[in-house]
Amino acid sequence: MSKEVNELAKILQDSNYIVFFGGAGVSTESGIPDFRSADGLYSESYAYPPETILSRSFFESHTEEFICFYRDKLLHPDAKPNKAHLALAELEKLGKLKAVITQNVDGLHTLAGNDNVLELHGSALRNFCMSCNESYSVETIIQSTKIPRCSCGGIIKPDVVLFEEALDQSVMSRAISAVADADVLIIGGTSLNVYPAAGMVNYFRGSKLVLINKSKTAYDGYADLVINESIGKALDEALKTIPLP
Ligand code: ZN
Repeated sequence: MSKEVNELAKILQDSNYIVFFGGAGVSTESGIPDFRSADGLYSESYAYPPETILSRSFFESHTEEFICFYRDKLLHPDAKPNKAHLALAELEKLGKLKAVITQNVDGLHTLAGNDNVLELHGSALRNFCMSCNESYSVETIIQSTKIPRCSCGGIIKPDVVLFEEALDQSVMSRAISAVADADVLIIGGTSLNVYPAAGMVNYFRGSKLVLINKSKTAYDGYADLVINESIGKALDEALKTIPLP
């Protein structure tokens, strides 16, 4: 175990009010490509840039192309929670972790067993009819050959926040409260360049800020502990040092 992970272990042992804030890097270890990194989606070439396809106006004007891209590139039905998700679920069971705030839409924190998950960008596992609000599973989207339709004829839309759409303010305010109440804030798998991640850090008033990311972030100088390695490995190793109740 590295010196940094050893320090993380001590922080986890000493705190009973940990909040985790995670970005795309949490899911890359489950085989889900990072949306914005160099080897992620944005460097691939399509008829339109992904930012355009994944916008509300494109969804409305080119629904079938949107769904096609979304199904092929954003849905990962075979992805399983990795060591990071599992360690966080365990920390919640131990009563130490109070909330997971995520920018990912893959639903893997919920699948891993975390109860208090605040999904800032929504979840691909939830889908609803735009006309009657009926909810549908992700299988409906996967199995549809063209535009997924409700039995009422309405279009079924994934409950994910598209470009040009506002974040859910109730989720946002719960996330801010969780960060403000936290004693320890662990930020993982994000370079903190993108709104709202960067702003979220400013609400933290607790004792330890921990950053776990493979590369440097703009906030490294503010952190009490910076770990530049795999988030799954770091959390898993640190968790194993906590005595079971
Ligand atoms: Zn409907």
